Amino acid sequence: MEAIKLAITGGRVIDPAQGIDRVADVLISDGVIQEITEGSSGDVPSGFESLDASGKIVSPGFVDLHTHLRDPGQEWKETIVTGTRAAAYGGFTTVCAMPNTDPVQDSAAVVDDVVRRAGADGAIRVLPIGAISIGQKGKQLSPMGELADAGVIGFSDDGNPVTDDNLMRQALAYSVDVDLPIINHAEDKKLVAGGVMSAGAVATRLGLPGAPVEAETVMVARDLHLADLTGARLHVPHISTLGSLVALRSAKECGVDVTAEVTPHHLTLNDEWVYGLNGDVPAVVSVEAYDTNTKVNPPLRSREHKEAVVEALSEGLIDIIATDHAPHAATDKVCTYNEAAHGINVLETAFASVFGLVETGKISIQRLIESLTSGPAAILRKDLGSLKKGFSADVTIIDPGATWIVEPEKFESKSMNSPLGGVQLTGRVVTTIYQGETVFELPVEASVGSGAGK
Ligand SMILES: [Zn+2]
Repeated sequence: MEAIKLAITGGRVIDPAQGIDRVADVLISDGVIQEITEGSSGDVPSGFESLDASGKIVSPGFVDLHTHLRDPGQEWKETIVTGTRAAAYGGFTTVCAMPNTDPVQDSAAVVDDVVRRAGADGAIRVLPIGAISIGQKGKQLSPMGELADAGVIGFSDDGNPVTDDNLMRQALAYSVDVDLPIINHAEDKKLVAGGVMSAGAVATRLGLPGAPVEAETVMVARDLHLADLTGARLHVPHISTLGSLVALRSAKECGVDVTAEVTPHHLTLNDEWVYGLNGDVPAVVSVEAYDTNTKVNPPLRSREHKEAVVEALSEGLIDIIATDHAPHAATDKVCTYNEAAHGINVLETAFASVFGLVETGKISIQRLIESLTSGPAAILRKDLGSLKKGFSADVTIIDPGATWIVEPEKFESKSMNSPLGGVQLTGRVVTTIYQGETVFELPVEASVGSGAGK
């Protein structure tokens, strides 16, 4: 087969790992990056197909450290096939699969199965995460060495916190030997005490049981101290409270080996979204209230916490954005707020939802792209998330002027549980290239309203 040679021409190439932000051509051959040219002359080298990216942003393919693919075991919510297609649609070329599947990814056999099927059927790269404890039950450590040999990129019981302090200490201590991070779902269930959203004025007004922000903060603080004790690498998932940020800052200043992620929804939505009016606060609570698509763990916080995580991401205290893509079937959400499952469907709206923060000047485009590319790649310690010569040709092309309405019923994901249905977003992934091959291209009719060429 003839090798595919592709020249992506005339786009604004932003590659934070190399400090590049200029109009240039990106040349791809044999599935790897060959070169980023100095400028863009309009000439396409002979033998290359060309893809016009003028007016667009050309970014390294996005890397998601936190994805729930639900496969094996809950294939009615998502599969490796639909989840990786949703990822490609959202501009992701690598996703890390959380192990809370059925069976749990707590043995090499289950991890091997996910890796094999993802390689055969996945649209993009899937890197597995192994469980911290057997069955994610928090009682007995998983075979961490065996899981490391099977290729996991870290360990997590995500969905469940590791409640037992000493088990957490042991997990951190063993993780040092295999040099992989521990990712603990930081939530003190006893403090949550049945809360279904973040405690505060909105919960009170809606008559919903609220969980205090301290349910997260105390466990983040514990984990940071145990990481310090063991010298292990800790990665804090979906950080969402001011208190967690204070603890994170002090740990980083003390040299604790810690990184942290924040989700697109904690950056852009607050607890007022539970009113079901896209963040508006009604004079009288209306029938739209109790929008179960806003139920997520950790819960959407108040405005103050939301603004704090945005600032922390912008300055780099929070290292990266990760989606916590958590697809759920309609039956998990068409019920009361108390009964509804936790989780938001994120992959396909991730970039555009956060791009709003660039538009309002809260974060730079370079920092946003870094937090989706070289940032997570650095935590993975893999040659990903950059357009360096010889790296896998994983490229995401964005139309920064495109406006579009989120239509969950059209998601590539099997599920539709997004609170952003009907919301207009600006900035859209138009092409995703994985290992030199186009795995997603926005159909032309869908680009109506595009700002390209303006
Ligand atoms: Zn979690």
